[in-house]
This record gives sequence, C-alpha cells and structure tokens, in this order.
Amino acid sequence: MSPRGWAVLTLAVLVTAGLLTVALLIPWHRPPAPRADQLAALRDLPVDQVERAREFRAALRPGGWAALAVGLLVALLLGLTPLGARLVELAGRPFGGHWTAEALAGGLAVVLVADLVTLPFAAWRQAVLTRYGMSTHGWGGWTVDLLKSYALSAVVGAVALLGFYTVLRLAPRWWWAFGAAGAAGLVLLLSFALPVLVEPVFNRFTPMEPGPLRTEVMDLAARDGVPVRDVLVADASRRTRAVNAYVSGFGPTRRIVVYDTLLREATPAEVTSVVAHELSHARHRDVLVGTVTGALGAAAAVIVLYLLGSAGGLLRLAGVDSIRDPRAFPLLLALVTLVGVVSTPVQAMLSRRVEARADAHAMALTGDPATFEAMQRRLAGANLADPDPPRWEYLYSASHPSTVERMAAARAHARETGR
Ligand SMILES: [Zn+2]
Repeated sequence: MSPRGWAVLTLAVLVTAGLLTVALLIPWHRPPAPRADQLAALRDLPVDQVERAREFRAALRPGGWAALAVGLLVALLLGLTPLGARLVELAGRPFGGHWTAEALAGGLAVVLVADLVTLPFAAWRQAVLTRYGMSTHGWGGWTVDLLKSYALSAVVGAVALLGFYTVLRLAPRWWWAFGAAGAAGLVLLLSFALPVLVEPVFNRFTPMEPGPLRTEVMDLAARDGVPVRDVLVADASRRTRAVNAYVSGFGPTRRIVVYDTLLREATPAEVTSVVAHELSHARHRDVLVGTVTGALGAAAAVIVLYLLGSAGGLLRLAGVDSIRDPRAFPLLLALVTLVGVVSTPVQAMLSRRVEARADAHAMALTGDPATFEAMQRRLAGANLADPDPPRWEYLYSASHPSTVERMAAARAHARETGR
C-alpha cells in the first residue's frame, strides 16, 4: 500500500477512535430542564441584574464576532492567495532564506500577523471590561499579559514549526505519520504541563488556608473517592472581578483551583458546592478525556492536511508547488483556522454535556441543591453573565449550560429528591 493509502486508513482509524471516545465517554442522557422551568428561574432573578448583564454582553458582542470574522478572513487571505507565501519569504530573507529561517521566522511572522489583526478587538474587550468594572489590572497589566501570551505561543510555535519542517525534510513520503504522532504528543504534553509550566506565568497559586472550609472540601473529596492533595487558590483578583474555579492537568499534574475572588464573594457552603462540581471533573477524568479527544483530532488534522496538501488547486491558490515548502505554512494555518471556527459549536456542545454532569454530581454529593442554585445566581451576578443568552450564541460557543438551565436543574433535583 502507498503512503497515501496508509494515510487514509490511519485517518479512518483515528476518526473512529475519536467518535467512540465521544460516544462512550460523554454523558448524553441528561436532557436540559424544561424551558418553562428555565423561564420561571429567569423571572426570579433581579431585573436590574439581568439588564446590566445583557448590556455588558451586548457591549462585548460586536468586538468578539468581529475578531472571529477578521481572524478567519486574514487567515484565508494569507493562505489562499500568494500573500502568505510572500510574507514567509520576506521574513526568511534576512536570515539568508534557508529553509529553517523560512520555517521559523516565516511561520512566526504569519502567526504574529494573524494575532496583530485581532489586537484592536482584544483592546476593545479590555476597554469594555474596564468600563463595567470587571477588569482590575489596568492597561499596564493587560499589556504584560498580552506580551507573556505572545512569548509563550512563540516558544511553543517555534518548537512545533521546527519539528514539523524537520520531519517533512527527513521523511518526505511518511511525514504525515510522524507529524500526526508529534501533534498528538504535543497536545498531550501541553495539557499535562499546563498547570506547572503555563498557568504560573499568569497567576500565583497557594494552597487553601487551613480552616473549617478546607477541612470541609477535603472531607468532600475523600467522600467522593477523589484523591486530592490540596485545593489551590489563584490570585485572580489581580486581573479580574470574575469568580471561577477549574480543574487542569491530569495524573500527577492534576489540580483543583479556585479563584481568590470566589473565596471573597461566596459563602463557605457555596464554595463547597463549586468544589463538588470540580470533583466531578476530576472523578470522571474530564481533562484527560478532553485531551485525548484533542490529541486524536490533532493527529487526524495533520493527515487531512497531508491529503489536502496534494490538491493542486489549493497549492496553486497559495502560490506554492508543494505542501512541504515552508511557504505553504499560511495555507496550513488557514485550513486549521477554518477547522477551528467550524468545530467550535461541536466542542461547546460536548463541553455543556460534561458540565451538566458535573452539576448533577455536585448536587448529589452535597445533597444541597438550594445552595447550588444560590451559587449559580451569585456566579451570574459576579460575572455579569447573561442568565439566558441568545440561542445562536449559546449554540455556537457556550461551554456551560446557561444560568437559568442550571437553576432549573437544581429545582428539578430538589423535586426529585424531596429536598
Ligand atoms: Zn465545570
């Protein structure tokens, strides 16, 4: 069988494995609470809070969608016209036009241009956050964060670009196999190392102080059968007024993090409710499942790029002869950006399923749906979340069930368990 035949076969195996993972490990069986219950929950929220949240979200919306549209357009412009190939050449020229220079400087230049065109919209977002009192770190802190994230993506990008084009040269017929394995490995490594290498660049983490709350959440974890060494507190208040908690990493790097803003704003019972939700993510290995799905997706994407890369029409549009040429990188980036935009609603839908399971788990574990509902109200208030966002926006990008869905789920849980 030819390398191309093997590529098609491998792609079929990866897609099947991905679909099986999603089919078996995503909780599909829990339908959202009836719409009438959601509307009843909405009516119970303070009118001025809902109005202010909707105003805030409406102020953010144009910039958010414009960033998405402009980012996609520029990626397509660079990838599907010879402009991107020209940019790679120009960036590689000061270094003698060697392929490593074109791969590295050219690749990073293309990524930088794609970042810079959306910079005005990021600034717009920061301006809105400041106007509504959600941002606490000012323009100085915002700029430092931005530069840090550029530096991080430059480092990861340089490793990926150099690795990718080295493999392309060493194995011109089988690069897709090494590339797919490398992409999957990089996704696994990044997710694994995120809590220890990336998150500390942006925040400081300290173990939760000893006291009744810590004892309570550690007991809860023990009761849930989830081994937890510590719950970490992030100094999120240096940047935002938003409250949040999350699980990241897996295996030895797994950790449960709560924002210091959450500890400041919420009652101890509400914090416990949030930790119970996070314990579900730990218990069901949601981060690992998400990472493995992402790794399968990344490997499949490399093979799709290989198969598409021999499509003469696309190469002609990009003004290159071969996908192995670093000047074809903008074409690859355009295809990856397009896949990202198209797959966002699918990822959001899967995430909402997982989050709904974590909510149900939290209520079952604490046996306290009333506090869970109070917490949802507080989250929505503190984060200026639209409790019942527009349907299209919800379907495209909502990673969590809406506030009214979560409140209605709490009421349904209370009814079912008689609490
Ligand atoms: Zn969650």
